[in-house]
Amino acid sequence: MGKIIALLMLVALIATPVGTLFFLSSHTKLAFAPQPTAIGANTPVTVHISNPHGLRRFTAVLEQDGARTTITETRNPADRLKFWLAQFPEQDIRFNAGSKQAPNLKEGKARIIVEAQSNDLRAITDTISSDVDVVLRPPSVTADGFQHYINQGGSEMVLLTPSGYWTEAGVRVGKDMDRSFPVAGSATQRLALFAYPWDLPTDTVPVVYAKNPASTEATARFWFKVFPKKFRMRDLTIDDKFLDKVVNQIDPSGSGDLLTRFLKINGEMRRANNKTLADLRLKTAEKFLWTEPFLQLANSKVESEFADVRSYIYKGKKVDQQVHLGFDLAVTAHTPVVAANDGKVVWAAPLGIYGNCIVVDHGYGLQSIYGHLSAIAVHEGDMVKRGQEMGKSGSTGLAGGDHLHYSMQVEGVEVNPVEWWDEHWIKDHVQNRFKQQ
Ligand SMILES: [Zn+2]
Repeated sequence: MGKIIALLMLVALIATPVGTLFFLSSHTKLAFAPQPTAIGANTPVTVHISNPHGLRRFTAVLEQDGARTTITETRNPADRLKFWLAQFPEQDIRFNAGSKQAPNLKEGKARIIVEAQSNDLRAITDTISSDVDVVLRPPSVTADGFQHYINQGGSEMVLLTPSGYWTEAGVRVGKDMDRSFPVAGSATQRLALFAYPWDLPTDTVPVVYAKNPASTEATARFWFKVFPKKFRMRDLTIDDKFLDKVVNQIDPSGSGDLLTRFLKINGEMRRANNKTLADLRLKTAEKFLWTEPFLQLANSKVESEFADVRSYIYKGKKVDQQVHLGFDLAVTAHTPVVAANDGKVVWAAPLGIYGNCIVVDHGYGLQSIYGHLSAIAVHEGDMVKRGQEMGKSGSTGLAGGDHLHYSMQVEGVEVNPVEWWDEHWIKDHVQNRFKQQ
């Protein structure tokens, strides 16, 4: 009896640490970041890895028609005993997949298989895979054959047809990349609205582009003519009464004197607010939500135009200069503010210098903006109809008196709204082009 107990104790003494090490061993958490759906000649793939013990082996394989090719493999010395002391951080492992790594790869379907083996006693192997299309032709792109007359500070639309292996396609104008979207009823053609920014040199050539993650990019030119525009210089005199009102309303907890606080709002906060507006382009519908021209606030007096360059004069001295990227439209105090066109509300909340603000998405990256409201009667997510009341004008934010600040943006770049108010412009530049093909 005593012998058996002694033997059991001996087994336990040996087995316990081994068992502990066995149970301390862990799986590897693996995830593509992002999931690859298509690969070309040399496409970057990223896998996010989480395993506190690190990896003994990492392997990526391309499989096509039963044939497997290892495209990357790393091995580390085995650690079966002291692994539990280790604390490896999460990491991204990057490798390239394509015909460069697997020369026999053909166009068609394939699968990327990633294996990770934990560097501990059990050395569990975990696997993820992704089905991908192999497209070995490089990207290429063609544009429509229309004549594109473009106003500096205005908008334009181009239809493009990307082919080969592409993942992104649109229009490049200067440093801006404007996305394209599918066109209903066409498997290949896409539509891109783009802005020709008011401050862009008028010899800048817009091009359509198509590219893929390997950064192979194709571009093509299209016929265009740019009409340069003169923008107005305006002096705007500001006094302590105005500063006191706007500064204490917009940034009541700011420090420093009134002028310093105002300049921070007019510069830093203006840029931050404009970034918030620009980012709303990501909340756009992949189709036009409207059919008629945009409405200008009825019976309104135009107090400021698009891209007025404003000099701020305080006590006889110029203290600041900013560009006003919208129209200031005044009627009477608390006049109803209506949706300029059918669309979806993507912002309905205070926004710094714009006060109570509404942004309506009209699809394909086109959005209208309504600022300084005294009341908002819609919510984010609401669908609105052309002419539907959404709130009342006011003087919240950076406004001296009651008016509507109205502006429009294309792919997050503010454009002159006059084109969108003009039914002829809309027909010539947008609507008729679908009929003429
Ligand atoms: Zn304004």
